Amino acid sequence: MHIDGACHCGKVTYEANINPENISICHCTDCQRLTGSAYRVTVSASRSDFRITSGDPRVYTKIADNGRRRMQYFCSNCGSPIYTTGELEDAEQVGIRLGTVNQRQALKPRAQFWCSSELPWAEDLGTLPRHSK
Ligand SMILES: [Zn+2]
Ligand SMILES: [Zn+2]
Repeated sequence: MHIDGACHCGKVTYEANINPENISICHCTDCQRLTGSAYRVTVSASRSDFRITSGDPRVYTKIADNGRRRMQYFCSNCGSPIYTTGELEDAEQVGIRLGTVNQRQALKPRAQFWCSSELPWAEDLGTLPRHSK
């Protein structure tokens, strides 16, 4: 599936070819901090199927649990997280941040990781009162 996307201010844009099966939620504490939210939703793609089409995202590098560097790319103007990649064989994959994907309404996560640090209410959203805006 072909997708494209942008940060909030529109300075950084990209396009990619993805497999809609490769979408996941991560409840790890790094994703909570880095998103400022309860969990992160990521669309995986091969590095060769992902291309920045405008802008020049900045990078913040964190050290993952396995000791490897994980590069977190974000817009230097509006701060939106755009994608992540890694080093060695991890460099062959990128993790695109679902909220920046223009086609995100059509995409659905297929698995959850790091449920050991999931916030206790994260599974119960369906029970909250709903408002259209
Ligand atoms: Zn931006
Ligand atoms: Zn995570």
